[in-house]
Amino acid sequence: MRYELMLPHQIRRAIGENWPVVLPLGVLEYHGEHMAVGMDTIAVIEALNDIEREIDIVILPPFYYGAASYAVEPPEGNGSLHVDASTLAPLAQSMFTGLLRIGFRNIHFFIHHQSENFGAGMPTDLAFKFAARQATFAFLERERGEGWWGREGMADYYAQHEAGDDPFNWIKGHPLMTPEIIAQYPFDHAGIGETSLMLAIRPDAVDMGRLDDAKWYAASAREATAELGAKGRRLIAEHLRQVLKPKG
Ligand SMILES: [Zn+2]
Repeated sequence: MRYELMLPHQIRRAIGENWPVVLPLGVLEYHGEHMAVGMDTIAVIEALNDIEREIDIVILPPFYYGAASYAVEPPEGNGSLHVDASTLAPLAQSMFTGLLRIGFRNIHFFIHHQSENFGAGMPTDLAFKFAARQATFAFLERERGEGWWGREGMADYYAQHEAGDDPFNWIKGHPLMTPEIIAQYPFDHAGIGETSLMLAIRPDAVDMGRLDDAKWYAASAREATAELGAKGRRLIAEHLRQVLKPKG
């Protein structure tokens, strides 16, 4: 369900049944002359829409205003909209605090932008990961008081941790494409991988007649096909299923 369309009784049900609450996280960034600037975020939104038909999840309104960077092209006349990660962190912390206050304990964000080395991190996902940790610590201290971790009732903390239900699992970040997917599907910027994916999920966001393949990163887009994109879409859907399907 889309969060903005939910009624309070539906929100209470989602909390009670511990539905995953998912933030599509992305940027607005130049993706060559042939593709829409929202590509990275649209890819996450459409992947979530795909699995929302089979799994009970809450999809939050997407966040497009990440740290795009101007590494690909300067913004003037090209469309990249960069918001600095130091600005994002407090905003994201407020968002996560709000979601915890509502009662959600199964919160996720998915990101495609600059996610090829997700373990190491890049500014947008690092800002949101940092915010998630900060929000969780502050929330726990507010709810349980200082010294919550050291108290007797927490003696099973490491056992809980192993079972995957400790508080630091309340908010988790994920790349849209795992290393396993990237081994089977091209990861690029505005090249054959991204362009094919868009041709499969949002063909209205691509105009192949405008492709400028003089840019090295876009040159492979000449070979893009909706069929290849459909393969990426299937791999991504399987990954999302694994992450978001109900446990136990
Ligand atoms: Zn991209």
